[in-house]
Amino acid sequence: MTLPLVLTVAGSDSGGGAGIQADLKTMLALGVHGMSVLTAVTAQNSLGVHGAWELPAEAVRAQYRAVVDDIGVDAVKTGMLASAELVETVAELLAGTGVPVVVDPVGVSKHGDPLLAASALDSVRTKLLPVATVATPNLDEVAQLTGVRVESEADLVRAADAVLEYGPRWALIKGGHLAGEAVDLLTDGSEKHWLRAPRLDNRHTHGTGCTLASAVASYLALGLPVPEAVAAAKRYVTGAIAAGFPLGGGIGPVDHGW
Ligand code: PLP
Repeated sequence: MTLPLVLTVAGSDSGGGAGIQADLKTMLALGVHGMSVLTAVTAQNSLGVHGAWELPAEAVRAQYRAVVDDIGVDAVKTGMLASAELVETVAELLAGTGVPVVVDPVGVSKHGDPLLAASALDSVRTKLLPVATVATPNLDEVAQLTGVRVESEADLVRAADAVLEYGPRWALIKGGHLAGEAVDLLTDGSEKHWLRAPRLDNRHTHGTGCTLASAVASYLALGLPVPEAVAAAKRYVTGAIAAGFPLGGGIGPVDHGW
């Protein structure tokens, strides 16, 4: 049996809701073999991030080499990268590999805790986005990266164009924070795919962004073209949000066993 091989390059969430834990659960649920390059450790629960420690660039490089030199990789997802040094290290490792790369340009957690140094934004723009097959910023991340503030669906097009300027093949702008329907825009600058889902009345959404990006990477590894992979990933994350459950005293995680 050969399973597609998917690698997450991301941080750990000790509460098990986001980060590599969400990524590996998504990969298991979608029938691919999940592997991880850990970039940072967070002390985290349903109430927030209580501490974060990044790993040395050398440890990130060594994990990546260990995986690709022996096992191989069919698709990569990147999440929390913490610092400019790690962003640049990961971009360097992924450049020119020919493997699809889904970049979730994680900036700040749902509780408002920073997961990326402000000094790393320029490296995300100029080093990481250019190696992305699909970049999946939410509206806060779009504003941080491009200065475009999205207040309507029309703004989503401007936001996507601004992200595409940095070089990813596709931009998936997640409009979930807009009022009304949960609408996302996927575009490569010519094709436009609007992805709509009803707004779910569930506050237990911790790990949504990680889950969506990992699902896109998993479907790409399974051989779907980008628009189909993103549509399938959106269906997966909508189900996971619908099944999100309370845990601890704060925001519970999305569920992968729905
Ligand atoms: N913790 C880690 C390690 C993450 O990678 C992320 C998101 O990418 C989060 C927390 C934030 O998750 P959320 O915004 O769903 O709370």
